[in-house]
Amino acid sequence: MRVEFRKIPTTNTPFSLDKDGVNYSGVFKKLSPKMVEIDLNIFGELKHTCDGCLEDFKLKIDETSKLLINDGVYSGNDMDIIESFDGFIDFDEIAQSEIESIKSDYHYCNKCKNNFKE
Ligand SMILES: [Zn+2]
Repeated sequence: MRVEFRKIPTTNTPFSLDKDGVNYSGVFKKLSPKMVEIDLNIFGELKHTCDGCLEDFKLKIDETSKLLINDGVYSGNDMDIIESFDGFIDFDEIAQSEIESIKSDYHYCNKCKNNFKE
């Protein structure tokens, strides 16, 4: 799903997309002519290899985050802003990078979690 920057309204606009058993939904709106805010909710299950015992398990994901996308080069001080250079916001690309960042964290299966408690 790609949305053109200049067509994004200044009011909350809902979106939802499914990818590999995970749902990405929320609202987006224009904060300024060059800045768009996305409230993103990621919900679903992902097959993940446990970082403790290396066995595959189903990782439950339920995360919310707020993203800021700038149309073109951003020159301010906020390091978390995503720059877009083609005049579009690519929701698939954003979903992909968010899920990669979740995957890159350490996740443990229930068995390992229980072991930690002992
Ligand atoms: Zn484990």
